[in-house]
Amino acid sequence: MSRATREILQKYWGFREFKGSQENIIDTILEGRDVLALMPTGGGKSLCYQVPALATAGICVVVSPLIALIQDQVNSLRKRGIKALALVGGISFDEMNDLLDNSLYGNYKFLYLSPERLQQEIVRERIQQMDVSLLAIDEAHCISQWGNDFRPAYLNCSILRELAPDTPMIALTATATQQVARDIVDNLQMTEALVVKDSFSRENIAYKVLVVEDKRYRLKELCAQNSKSIIVYVRSRRLAEQTAQYLNKNGSNATFFHGGISQKEKKKRLEGWMENKAKIMVATNAFGMGVDKPDVGLVVHFQVPDSLENYFQESGRAGRDGNPAAAVLITNQTDESQVKNQFLSVLPDIPFIKMLYQKLNNHFQIAYGEGTDENFQFNFNAFCDTYKLNQALSYDGLRILDQNSVIALSERFSKKTTVRF
Ligand code: ADP
Ligand code: MG
Repeated sequence: MSRATREILQKYWGFREFKGSQENIIDTILEGRDVLALMPTGGGKSLCYQVPALATAGICVVVSPLIALIQDQVNSLRKRGIKALALVGGISFDEMNDLLDNSLYGNYKFLYLSPERLQQEIVRERIQQMDVSLLAIDEAHCISQWGNDFRPAYLNCSILRELAPDTPMIALTATATQQVARDIVDNLQMTEALVVKDSFSRENIAYKVLVVEDKRYRLKELCAQNSKSIIVYVRSRRLAEQTAQYLNKNGSNATFFHGGISQKEKKKRLEGWMENKAKIMVATNAFGMGVDKPDVGLVVHFQVPDSLENYFQESGRAGRDGNPAAAVLITNQTDESQVKNQFLSVLPDIPFIKMLYQKLNNHFQIAYGEGTDENFQFNFNAFCDTYKLNQALSYDGLRILDQNSVIALSERFSKKTTVRF
């Protein structure tokens, strides 16, 4: 098996070796088993479904969230002489009909579609008629409400199980939190799947925290010192615009991006930055998935991010090409108290927590200091600090205390809380 897949890797991509867990994943799929692949951005997830699809007869159906991502993939496959189709929004019924006929009878190896397409009867019918070799759910964290990228249409993916029964499924994501992984497994019925998690450590990124007096001044300096592409993350739309303006006034070339601008405008600004017309992108967390610029030399956080998971994803956009890059958090004294207040404002009131704590203490096993990931550790420490507790709670895998966990827990106990946003 390994030899055949290696030949495919070499023939179509010109690579000699698989990297990370690719080979293990591919072999598992070829045995007919499901896989959940948790690999960092740039880890090589695409080949995990593309290679086994090429090693088997039939067509691989791939769900992907963004037209831009779909087009990238389809173009890159076509360039290699592999037949691939894209089924995205904005085409007429007739065009869709033709496309689906093609994928049925045209010897295509890949059919990419956005999750919304799975709502259409015609799409479902045709997939049912196809000889599907593999189901691939890319960016599978979109299925989870715990993440930032929740996309309700992703819940349609489970229908693929009925449309193509007994077909192996692979779900792929760069989000590695337990909550998200559990949602993927539940929604896609992947209880028997092999779960593979590659190393998420990014050796080429230098992480720094700068505690300074004048944040803007320091930002300006940092931007001037770095000759490569830069992303600056801020937490409000207004600040994104203001900061870009400030940098432009001070000799840098910056653009901005946030959820409040039109699609057309977003596209224009993204392209300007991708093509190095603007060196600096100042953005809110709306700037994320699908942004794949290999040569970002610096990611600055001008404000403390929501969570370590988000920080990891955002700072991870630096140095995708493997070259040395930096991730810098600029902060000051005021930030610290702001973060603390913000954290406290999403907690339920103390009597409720004490009650909850008692309940859990009585009814469930309490895991002392369980959970090693940093996210939990952060919450754990803050939680214990706030409530003068010296132990952490872990209930049914739910971890106190980010705001989602609090809500989930309180719902389970059907108690009203004073969670505020
Ligand atoms: P992900 O989806 O995990 O972010 P991609 O599938 O886009 O990653 O792959 C990232 C880069 O790694 C691509 O340029 C791809 O060609 C390259 N790559 C993938 N597998 C290998 C391999 N076995 N050897 C060398 N390069 C690889
Ligand atoms: Mg990918």
